[in-house]
Amino acid sequence: MIRACLFSVLVGMFVSAAYAQVLPNSRLAAPPSPPPGFLPPPLHPRGVTLETRELGDGVYALMSNRPFTDNAGFIVGSNEVLVIDSHFNGAMGRQIIEAVRRVSDLPIKYLLNTNAFGDHVFGNYVFSDDTIIVAHQSTINALKISSVQGMSQTMARTVGGDISVFDGVELRLPGVGFNGSWEIDLGGKVVQMYWFGKGMSPNDSVVFVPDANVAWTANLIFGKGTIPWARSGDILAYQETLRNFSEALQPATIVPGHGEIVSGDLVRSYRQYLAEIRVLSEQAVAAGITIDDFVATAHVDPNYEIEPSLQGLMTGFHRWNLKVAFNEVSR
Ligand SMILES: [Zn+2]
Repeated sequence: MIRACLFSVLVGMFVSAAYAQVLPNSRLAAPPSPPPGFLPPPLHPRGVTLETRELGDGVYALMSNRPFTDNAGFIVGSNEVLVIDSHFNGAMGRQIIEAVRRVSDLPIKYLLNTNAFGDHVFGNYVFSDDTIIVAHQSTINALKISSVQGMSQTMARTVGGDISVFDGVELRLPGVGFNGSWEIDLGGKVVQMYWFGKGMSPNDSVVFVPDANVAWTANLIFGKGTIPWARSGDILAYQETLRNFSEALQPATIVPGHGEIVSGDLVRSYRQYLAEIRVLSEQAVAAGITIDDFVATAHVDPNYEIEPSLQGLMTGFHRWNLKVAFNEVSR
């Protein structure tokens, strides 16, 4: 049964002008120029297996055997099943459905899309017509002005230029939008979805299962041994979004959209990191350092305990973030 949903949709109609932030395809295709040493996240799904990990009663993470390719998940109630993200293409979407079927025969009634990037939504079209797809209204707005071709081009660098991974993909838009939050009871199992503001993208949403205290954080919080990536170009907004997150939820466990499962403490680490790069940028601007000198050879503070396998990727994210922070401070 849908609780709060209709209400949030109705409320959303009044607040959407303030909340909705559409990222047009043209901007998706042309992010700010990357800093020296920046690496696109390696997301190619070929050969990727999603491993099912039970995190609580009826609560399952689907973890990519090759990080940083996307993770997903599903929740089984006594009446129905809810899936979190549909992954890269039809084949990966079907892999999710098969994983659900190994655990439950109940209908997949809901599919949640946590943002508007193809690696989270391109599997939508292989789910049953009876599956209700839910996303934040800004995700839907962004998808409405997108195309598979445009998004494939945007994501080409994440798959080594092999856009054949998008062959056959049909863009299926979510049918239910929310603003603020949305909640569903699957039968003895409540699932909530929140939008706390702009983060890695304007659309990042968080899925939360209260009785397991587990959150799916998509691109807002990556996995173990990571720092954020302010891809959307706004450090201050990211900080506010994570403050909103912390005030609303204190998950014990985070299933990130990319990377390994991690403790909820990573939210605090992300907030500390963003605050620190603001300070570093203020100091650099005050000292008259140029943006190129500030960014070119920067490395992440070892206190953030970056995963060894992610050093190169996170160094690129860090330099990207410094560039954004420097520009923000200089404005
Ligand atoms: Zn992602």
